Amino acid sequence: MDENILLKGIGASPGVAIGRALLVEHGRPDFSHYRLSTQDEIHEEVARFQKAIKESEAQLLKAKKEVSKKKIKEAQYIIETHILILQDKVLRDEVIKKIENERVDVAWALKSTMEELKKNISQMSDEYMQERTSDIDYIEKRILRNLAGKKAVSLSNIGEEVIIIANDLSPADTANLKSDEVLGFVTECGGKTSHTAIMARALKIPSVVGLQDIMRKVNNGDDIIVDGIHGVVIINPDAETRRKYRQKKDQHEEFERKLFTYKDLSAESRDGFRVKLLANIEIIEELTSVLEYGAEGIGLFRTEFLYINQKQLPTEEELFEIFKHVTEKTTPHPVTIRTLDIGGDKFISHIDFAEEMNPVMGLRAIRFCLKEIPIFKTQLRAILRASAYGKVKIMFPMISCVTEVVQIKKILQEVKKELQKQKKEFDPDIEIGIMVEVPAAAAIADHLAKEVNFFSIGTNDLIQYTLAIDRVNEQVSYLYEPLHPAVLRLLRNIITSAHDNGIPVAMCGEMAGEPLYIPILLGLGIDELSMNPIAILETKKVLRSLEYNRCREISEHLFDLETAEEIRAYLLKEVNKNFNKIILDK
Ligand code: PEP
Ligand code: MG
Repeated sequence: MDENILLKGIGASPGVAIGRALLVEHGRPDFSHYRLSTQDEIHEEVARFQKAIKESEAQLLKAKKEVSKKKIKEAQYIIETHILILQDKVLRDEVIKKIENERVDVAWALKSTMEELKKNISQMSDEYMQERTSDIDYIEKRILRNLAGKKAVSLSNIGEEVIIIANDLSPADTANLKSDEVLGFVTECGGKTSHTAIMARALKIPSVVGLQDIMRKVNNGDDIIVDGIHGVVIINPDAETRRKYRQKKDQHEEFERKLFTYKDLSAESRDGFRVKLLANIEIIEELTSVLEYGAEGIGLFRTEFLYINQKQLPTEEELFEIFKHVTEKTTPHPVTIRTLDIGGDKFISHIDFAEEMNPVMGLRAIRFCLKEIPIFKTQLRAILRASAYGKVKIMFPMISCVTEVVQIKKILQEVKKELQKQKKEFDPDIEIGIMVEVPAAAAIADHLAKEVNFFSIGTNDLIQYTLAIDRVNEQVSYLYEPLHPAVLRLLRNIITSAHDNGIPVAMCGEMAGEPLYIPILLGLGIDELSMNPIAILETKKVLRSLEYNRCREISEHLFDLETAEEIRAYLLKEVNKNFNKIILDK
């Protein structure tokens, strides 16, 4: 038996688990394909398909019941989506059409229909959508299993503590997991935003995903360590490694327990400088975490997924219902809804986008909305109507000049007038803000600050455009540097200009949730940080260990330094000296 084989995947749900492997085969059953010759055979095949769909539907409804009993909202939404896909008439008709016209067996027709669907989705460059192909996969496998008369492996009563190793686990598969039996799981498929990962976090089960070939490397009963924090899996650890990881497990559990003691404490520095901590969300499933980690509202609600995920553009009513739901759930805290940031690397399949050489610098975000005014107005109407149910703010992405803001305000005024005429309620004083994520906007922040109620700095794009580094190109990712002096200078200019004009500044890019950068942001006087909800408690812990006055001195000194390397070294030294290594202890 080989000892201590260390494999690296993607940490999907934090925590450490140590236990014995249980391999779960949820693969596709094999089918021999055949051609149909008579009309009777065709009818028989269609009937088989309909029966398999019915069985699949019943199984998913049962799984949904199970998760709603356990109050796992995330899983409920995901399973509901699967049921909707299964009930999709177009999809069903397509399979039946294939059986009838091409005279092929049902498994063949199903596979080729699903293949076409997955191909269409995988052509979208958006990571979230790419991962939605796994939803199609889950459904396809389920129907195939039912066609083959195979019973799904039940994970509800394993009878012992195990670590599950699988190619992939669908939300319905995981619905029955008991967290006192399943200590952790490892899958070959999936990424950070895959549904398996979302489920794992909701169930608080340590897990690693995207570990290709793990099924071939592990045998049933092998000893396994799952480190969901660093995405590491160790097969058959030696005694020393086991001891080390047992210690890590205890430390992590202690760390988590202690972090939750911060939930109700105020987010402020030792000397009382208050920074509000809010959450970024992309999908409605994340609302649970927003509340669980004590966010003071939603600082960025990315609305793209309401458009990309649909067969047609969402209607005003559909958007309104979602915005209203999020607003009501978040109240009394505010919800900042960002208008559609489409284009760049995110596309809507049913709109014809012209081919662009440089899409991230093309017809993206607000530029798209100002060209497609009816789409923009529909979204604004829905957001405004939701503002009657709580504190809603509107935020516009990718602003590069004052003219755009003037145009937006004119359109917003028109929409408000229309709503008033129709006697629809909304907050007439709704705050509007812009994302400062284009260097041009950072340079004219003083002018822009006179036009809006708040700024939110989008560092993901601001760094990309300032340093001319494509944020999704791995070749140049080593140059992506938040501590580049040019970036820091822009941050300083944005914050000072905003404050000189009496408006607050938030940051909602990834930089906001990184512990090492908090002393700088605090020192520069940031008002709000918005991040992945999971990062909130740790950020609060770091913030409460800092001293605003010292951070101001530290951040002032950074501007005398010439390179990111010098800045990083200085920052680490100061953090170490002043703040009890709390940031580095992670
Ligand atoms: C950003 O650019 O920093 C940002 C928060 O927006 P997105 O990542 O959605 O472009
Ligand atoms: Mg952006």
